[in-house]
Amino acid sequence: MALLRAILTRGFRPAIRLPSVGPMAVFHVDTGGCEGCAMEVAALDGAAYALSATGLRFVTTPRLADVLLVTGPLTRAMAPVLETAWHAMPDPRALVAVGACAIDGGPFGENYAVLGGLEGRAPLDASIPGCPPSPASIVAGLAGLLGVSGLSSSA
Ligand code: SF4
Repeated sequence: MALLRAILTRGFRPAIRLPSVGPMAVFHVDTGGCEGCAMEVAALDGAAYALSATGLRFVTTPRLADVLLVTGPLTRAMAPVLETAWHAMPDPRALVAVGACAIDGGPFGENYAVLGGLEGRAPLDASIPGCPPSPASIVAGLAGLLGVSGLSSSA
């Protein structure tokens, strides 16, 4: 009985509250890597976090997005996908690299399959370091965007 109570208490604990960011629609593209950063982004959208209270929401099409959130090193296969997503987004829009791989390639060098990080390759509006960054760090990194990139509350 005590075990059941412990499981239920843990299962139904309140969602972790994150700082408010403001209305922002985010489209996430994982371009490769170990999936660690992608899992942290997915966790952010999960039941453990009260994402709606931050103003952030994930969208399933770049046409509705304010922010293109990229995780993983840029692979040659995913480069055209990322470019297509970026061009489909309305202005104003922002490009954000999440994690060491997306920023500078991290442990993945440049090779026949991998181009490297976005730094110096694309105009980044924000870089969120970490390997991987926590969901709270990702929200904190996005919080600065409204002032920096000229994004308005278009969501
Ligand atoms: S930054 Fe670290 S956790 Fe994120 S994809 Fe690269 S190796 Fe994985």
